[in-house]
Amino acid sequence: MTPTTLATLIEDLNAGRLKVVDLTQPLGPATPVIGLPPIFAASPGVTIEVISRYDDKGPAWYWNTLRFGEHTGTHFDAPVHWITGRNLPDNACDTIPARRFVGPACVIDVTRDVAVNPDFLLTPERIDAWEIEHGRIGRGAWVLLRTGWSRRTDAAAFLNLAADGPHSPGFDARASRMLAHDRDVLGVGVETIGTDAGQAGTFDPPFPNHTIMHGAGKFGLASLCNLDQLPATGAVVIAAPLKIAGGSGSPLRVIAITPP
Ligand code: MN
Repeated sequence: MTPTTLATLIEDLNAGRLKVVDLTQPLGPATPVIGLPPIFAASPGVTIEVISRYDDKGPAWYWNTLRFGEHTGTHFDAPVHWITGRNLPDNACDTIPARRFVGPACVIDVTRDVAVNPDFLLTPERIDAWEIEHGRIGRGAWVLLRTGWSRRTDAAAFLNLAADGPHSPGFDARASRMLAHDRDVLGVGVETIGTDAGQAGTFDPPFPNHTIMHGAGKFGLASLCNLDQLPATGAVVIAAPLKIAGGSGSPLRVIAITPP
């Protein structure tokens, strides 16, 4: 039999010529949850309640009841999450074709910029500079913004709240337009709690990345980690949300297959 791509994939994984990198944060009661101004409804934190644990309620089995908002921890944003994407076809967790959960990763490293400016925004000029070095971002790619933010393991440092709201990096609206419309990416992934900058509620339009990406039918991935283990190009990311009927997003396990 001629070796197929899939047989080669497994051989390469077994031989260590490719590895699987987990881009996912643990999901539990300690998972930080995004804060919104009090006039808006809040997402609850994570609760995990035991149904039974080898006890009177279930002598031979252990299982839990989970409660959390769809946009909690490492999670997927579907286009229907935003008002701009609400009337698009195949815009929810259960209707997006599964093919679209798999794509090549383009990792843009702005860790040094973010270290000196937590409000750093990715611009088209920075994307241009990245493309000169690594090639044009292809259609159907996941664009992952590596900021080093996942090193902030303390919830207060991760949310980085000040009197004027949260401060964390994100996307200039022009960069979101370039990626969504000119590059036709699958979506963007970030290490922060959401795919917009902490101060994006004050931008014009407010939350431009959500507005533009989801309006173009693109996805979001939030609270990723281990992006420092990926090359700038050459990894494949698999990010498949739970098939929640009509769901706007879901926590998920994001994995990358990458050269070592
Ligand atoms: Mn979200």
